[in-house]
Order: sequence, then structure tokens, then C-alpha cells
Amino acid sequence: MLRQYQELKARYPDAMLMFRLGDFYELFFDDAIVAARDLEIVLTSRELGKGRRVPMCGVPYHALSGYLARLVDRGHRVAICDQVEDPRAAKGLVRREVTRVVTPGTVMDATLPPREHRYLAAIAPGQGGYGLAAADLSTGDLLVTQIDGPEAARRLADELARVDPREILVPDRAPEGFPLLARSHLTRVEPWRFEPSIGRRALIEQFNVTSLDGFGCEDLPLATAAAGALVQYLKQTQLSALDHLRGLRVYSTDAALSLDETTRRNLELVRNLRDGSVANTLLTVVDETATAMGGRLLREWLLRPLVSIEAIVVRQGAVAVALEHRTVRGEVRESLRALPDLARLVGRVGHGSVTPRDLGALRGGLLRLPAIRDALGRMPDARIIELSRLIDPHDALAELIGRALVDDPPLGAKEGGVIRPGYDAELDDLRAGASEGKGWISGLEAAERARTGIRSLRVGFNKVFGYYIEISNANRSLVPGDYIRKQTLTGGERYITPEMKEREAAILGAEERMAEIEYRLFEALRETIAAQSVALLATARALAEADVLLGLAEVAQRWNYVRPEVVEEPVIDIKGGRHPVVERLLQGERFVPNDLALDVAGRALLIVTGPNMAGKSTLLRQTALTTIMAQMGSFVPASSARIGVADRVFTRVGATDDLATGRSTFLVEMQEVARILHGASRRSLIILDEVGRGTSTYDGMSLAWAVVVFLHDRIGARTLFATHFHELTELADLLGRVHNVSMEVREEGDQVIFLHTVADGRADRSYGIHVAQLAGIPQEVIIEAKRILQRLESAAARPGEPDAPRLPSRARRGRQLPLGLDLTSPIEEALLALAIESMTPLEALQTLADLRERARALRGGPAEREERRLQ
Ligand code: ATP
Repeated sequence: MLRQYQELKARYPDAMLMFRLGDFYELFFDDAIVAARDLEIVLTSRELGKGRRVPMCGVPYHALSGYLARLVDRGHRVAICDQVEDPRAAKGLVRREVTRVVTPGTVMDATLPPREHRYLAAIAPGQGGYGLAAADLSTGDLLVTQIDGPEAARRLADELARVDPREILVPDRAPEGFPLLARSHLTRVEPWRFEPSIGRRALIEQFNVTSLDGFGCEDLPLATAAAGALVQYLKQTQLSALDHLRGLRVYSTDAALSLDETTRRNLELVRNLRDGSVANTLLTVVDETATAMGGRLLREWLLRPLVSIEAIVVRQGAVAVALEHRTVRGEVRESLRALPDLARLVGRVGHGSVTPRDLGALRGGLLRLPAIRDALGRMPDARIIELSRLIDPHDALAELIGRALVDDPPLGAKEGGVIRPGYDAELDDLRAGASEGKGWISGLEAAERARTGIRSLRVGFNKVFGYYIEISNANRSLVPGDYIRKQTLTGGERYITPEMKEREAAILGAEERMAEIEYRLFEALRETIAAQSVALLATARALAEADVLLGLAEVAQRWNYVRPEVVEEPVIDIKGGRHPVVERLLQGERFVPNDLALDVAGRALLIVTGPNMAGKSTLLRQTALTTIMAQMGSFVPASSARIGVADRVFTRVGATDDLATGRSTFLVEMQEVARILHGASRRSLIILDEVGRGTSTYDGMSLAWAVVVFLHDRIGARTLFATHFHELTELADLLGRVHNVSMEVREEGDQVIFLHTVADGRADRSYGIHVAQLAGIPQEVIIEAKRILQRLESAAARPGEPDAPRLPSRARRGRQLPLGLDLTSPIEEALLALAIESMTPLEALQTLADLRERARALRGGPAEREERRLQ
């Protein structure tokens, strides 16, 4: 056995080998040590070979999937080695083979989260671009794209982050500069597998076609290469037919609103910042889907909103009609709720891991489709009607499964009890024979009791001895002569008779044969279904889309959302806008709706000021979320909305808020801002929340100032910039398209009341101490803080007093910030006024010296320089 183990292990050196022994999957040597640690199971040892003890641990075969998921989540690859012949029939050692290799990207077990795709990706780097392929083995989805041209690496990084694959295949030398590559499970495969010609051949073979012409990837060699490498890898690891993987879908990253990783995280689209779960995210708010298939599709829509108005309007139209037709919608959703996950069922059919119970579920699902199709057909919307036509109930297949399968099929396919009587004549005959034999045996007890007069005589069965007659010691004297003793117990004896033995052999032989036939019939049924997997998956996709559209209608109705007008011009005009998540969390308390208008021509950039806790971040985020919702085709939380399609949405949050994610360094904050300044266009939407807070006040404020100027002058995108640097509000006086808005509060005595309403104009106080008091800071600290604040404020009002503490921001009010952005700099004016042509060299030197003197004076006296040094 050791040799068998070692031979198999040698074939899969980079995987942990789980070796089937009896009812356990065992691991040996180093694999055992690692698995015992990662699975928290007991490490034992076993004598293997000549007196050699080796480390060993194991898990029960029926609990494999849970343990497997844990190992794979930790980044291990696991080769599953099964017995491939019946141990009873084996001569000597049972033959074992690796039946599949499970890797982080190819998990198929029930532990997969139902409402999320699990992608395996492959990246094919090439001249000036990349091919990217992503496959979800559980549903057979295979998506490919090619990213060329400017900023290909950045766009690939964004796309990878969006796909969020568990495992990424790369050629031996991984492309550099992708943060995600460092975090994901990277699997290096031989570079030749990424050859476009080899990839093309692998795809043609897998899809069983003569050319790839129909798939639209003929001009995309890198995309083809990535898909080819991926399919080869799946074949290598799955060692099964992959009947459900019969095509690919080409997509373009330009067809989607680009959301980089930071933005997705900050906006808490599908995971929250607190614990990374889906709670309180935009996804939970818009997800009223009734099926897991719909749930997965909605998630994709949310992470990949559209940029084509035409496509957005198609979705909106469907949502609007579904919203109106409440009764039909309710009917369809009710039926959808009872549907199984058809896509994953078909995935398991194609993968060969489907159980009889799964097929029972598939049959049940198919039988519900006609009602869903007909109800959808009653909704007067072009897209919904098209979807209803795409739903094919596969009547013949449903009928076949119905005929073949028993009503309540078992989990296992090998123990029989799967096939319905009347489906197969040979099976029926065997069953009749076996049942006749069993009938004889069940009558045996009564007959023998009568014959022997032993009232306690009992007929039983066990796996080792088969059928027997059990007689207690007290009645031993009454045992007839034809009884043959088989086993002695403490209280009695077990016997058989020659006729019993004969019957038993017939019954057991028939049962074995029946199980074989049933398994063969089940496999044939599986293959028939697998041959239709492409059509079945198309039906699953139509159902998913209908589910998403009806779900969005449900959300819109329940939360009073409106249909946004989506336009080309880069504008945003939201009336009565709400934050979709916060309004639900407030439960009972009223969320205060706000209006917000932005347009690149006049009101491109809003500086949002206001006290702590006033609702600045909420306003910023609700604007971004509303835009994303509009572009995914959803209705939005507002009383009316006009949204210009954005090409990208950026969201950056200053260091304070970012601490939670462990990425709090100022460097990261600045890198992110740099990406916006390089990547944003006039059509982008930019949300900056307290950017510049991660460093000293002057540095931060100067940077924030310069960033606003750059955004205004060079990019002109719709921008919301929330800040406590009240100095920035002065920019509204200096730059034409910068405007101030602030969140209003009302002071009543010592109390501050947050009104949560936004109004034009600037705020000049942060009420930070008040918020600290609300937070429970001890009264003593609050009183001291108020005293210091008063001193600082009065000193700021009387600048120049030698030993008074200085409040930099206030002390400088009314003076230009020394940012090199000094639009009215006297030095600049003096320079412009010079008549250099008529100057003598001496005059020029003198003028230069004067200018330096004035510049020094402008930079402030020694006291001010000292203050800067101490900042
Ligand atoms: P800080 O400057 O301290 O970061 P902020 O101005 O960004 O504060 P938010 O975090 O947006 O304030 O809001 C604070 C809380 O106020 C929110 O968690 C929410 O509960 C409430 N809030 C915000 N906006 C509204 C609103 N429009 N209506 C009702 N409650 C709101």
C-alpha cells in the first residue's frame, strides 16, 4: 500500500493526497502534519512498510466536503484518491486512483456560498495587453476579455478585483505590479499552455466544435490564450467530462462603469468595512431576488453597472412594468422561490458529481417552469417577454426524469433505490425475483415457528452471516435436524437451512445486480441531461435575469424608489435623495432627504463642510450609490433623479475612516488620490471624504487645496469633497466651478441639533468637542478642551500677540495660503510688470535681489517659521 501511495503522491507532488482507506480519507507524512494543524484533528501514526511508523491523520469519508473546503481555503491543493474497484472483487490491493484535484478555484462542494460565483481566473500577458478568462466551474460560466491599450495593467487590476477570483493561473513568471496577485492563490502553469494556438485547440476540443468563430474571440488571441490555459487546467484537475462547459462569453471592460477596488470597498457595495460580511451593504438593500441564481446575477450587475443608456433603459423598462404588475410579479416570485439552483444542478450534472436527489430537484424545478414562463409572458415588456420565451421547460427531459427516477431519490447512486419500477424490464424482473425471495423469508418465521413449536424463534439478517434463524438456549432441544449451526451467542444459537442459503444467494445476487443496473441507468440519465446542459443553462440564465428584474421592482415598491432619468451629459440632479442603507438602519427615525445638483459646466465641484456627525459622508456616499444603482438599471432612493452616465466612480476616504481596514498610511491615501488624478475623466464621479487628514494640518490642507485646483482645472469631473479644512471653502471664491454646501445644525443653548439637511454655503465650525461629549468623553476633559478652544479662538482673533497659542487655520483666514497657487501673488505681478529688455545687467541683479527680499517677507517672520517647524 505504501508503494501505491507513493506512486500516486509522486504524480501530484504539489497537492496534499487524501487517500481512501475504508471509511476514511487518510493523509500521511508531511501532508498529515499540515492537515492535522489546519484542520485541528488528531495526528497519529501508522506502521507502513517494515516497522516504519509514519505520521497520519484522517477524516471520515462522509464529512469530506467540510474538511476539504477548509484545506482549500487555506490555499492547499488537494488530490482526492478513491478506490476505483469494488474491494470485494479486488484481488490483493484495491486499485486506487486520483479522481480529482481540488484547488481554491475549483471547489464544487455544497460549501460554496450560494449567492456568489466562485471564479478561477487565468491571465495571459502579451504584447501591450492581457487576456483574462474567468470560469465558475459550478455553473459552467466562462467569461473572457482582452484588455489592450493605454493603462492596460491598471484596467486589468480593476477587472481582477471585480471578478475576485479565488485562484489565478499565470504563466511561470507572473506579471508584476498587481496587488491582487500577491493576495490570491497564484497557480503557475507551464508557459506553453498559454500559447494561443494550443489554447485554441483545447477550446475547440472542449466545446466540441470545428472552430471558435461563433464565440467572437477570433481577433482576441490573448483572451483565447487565457481561456485555453484555463480549460486545460480544469481538465487536468477535474479528470471529468465538464459537459457543462461548452462555450464562452466575450465581454468588454469598456461596457461597464469602472469601479476600482478601493471604491467598492469604501462604498460597501458587497462587503461591509466592519467585518467583511454582506450585512448592511448596498447588495443586501437591492437584493430581493427569490433564487440563488438571481442573487448571483444581481451581484454581477451591481459590480458591473452599465454605461450604455440604451441597455440601462431596457432594464428600467422591465422594472417599471414589473412594478406595475404587482399580482403577476407576486405569482412569479412565489414560483421562483420554490425553484432549486438550476445552474448549479446542471453544473454538477456536467461535472459528474450529481446525486439522484439532485436529479429529483432538477425534475421538480423543470415542472415549475411552464407556470413561470406563462406568467412572465403576461407582463407587457419587451425584455420580460423575451426572457419568458428563453425559458424552456424541457418537457421531454422532465418527463424522462419523472419516468426514470423514484419520487424521493436517495443521496447515493450506488446503493439502489433510484430507478422507478416500470422504467427498465430487466430491473423489474430482478426486483420481482428478489421480492419473491424476501417474501419467502419473511414468511419463514411464522412457518418455522409452527413447524418447531418454538414461539420465540426469530429470523434475522446481518451483513456477515446473511439470513439466519435465532433460537434461545432454552429451546435448543427443539431444533430440527435440518438446521445447520452458524454462530453461537451467549443466550442462544443461530442456524441456517440449505433452502434459506439458496434463497439468500439469489436475493443478494439480485440486489447486487440491481444496484449495478440502477447505477448504469442513472449514469445514462445523467449523460442525457448533460447533453442538454447548454440549453438548460440558457434557461437558468433567463430565469436569473427575470428574478433580478422582478426583485428590483419589489425593492422599488417597498422603499419608494423612483425611476431615474439617465442622460449622456455629465450632470447629477437628485431631489429628495436618501442613503439606501442608512435609511433602513434608522428604523423608525426619519431619514432626512436631501437635494443635490452637480454639473460639469457650472457646479462641477462641491466642497461639503459641516460639523462632525452632520451627515457629510452620508450625503457623499448616497450620491455615489444612487449613480451606481441608476447605471445597474435599478430605481433609486429619491423623489426624482437625473443622472448623467459616469464612466468611472472613485471614492476615497481620508486616513481616519480608513483605519478599520488596516490601510491607514498616508502613503496609501496619496497613492489612491494619485490614481484619481491620473485616471479620472470629465465623465467620472469623484467622492473625496476628508482626504488629506493623514498628515499635519498644513501639509494636508495644502494638498487638499492643490488637489481641488487640479480637479477643477484639469479634469472638470463631478466631484464632492467633504472636509473639515474650512479654508478650502475659499476656493469657491477663486474657482468658477467650485461651490460650497454645508450640512446644517441648530444651536440651542449648549445643545447642537443635527438637522442633516444640506444647504448652499460654508460652515466654519466642526463642533468636535460637542461630538466628543456625545461619545462619552469624561466631563473633565470636555471642560478643559472647551477652555483651550476658547483661548485658541481669541488668540486667533488677535494675531501677533507674542505668547498666545496659535490656531493656524483661523490665524490665516484672509491671507493667501502659501501653496504656490497664490493667484494674486504680488511677486508674480511684479515679475509680469518687468521690462527686462530695457534693463541693464546691474538693474536686473538688483531687481532679483528685491524680489527675493519680498518673497522672504511674504513667507512670514521667524515666529511663523518656527511654528511651521513644530507642526
Ligand atoms: P464626520 O465629520 O464626523 O465624519 P459626517 O458629517 O461625515 O461626520 P455622517 O457619518 O455622514 O457624518 O453621519 C453621521 C450619522 O448621522 C449617520 O450615521 C446617520 O445615522 C446620521 N445621518 C446622516 N445623514 C442623515 C440624514 N440625511 N437623515 C438622518 N440621519 C442622518
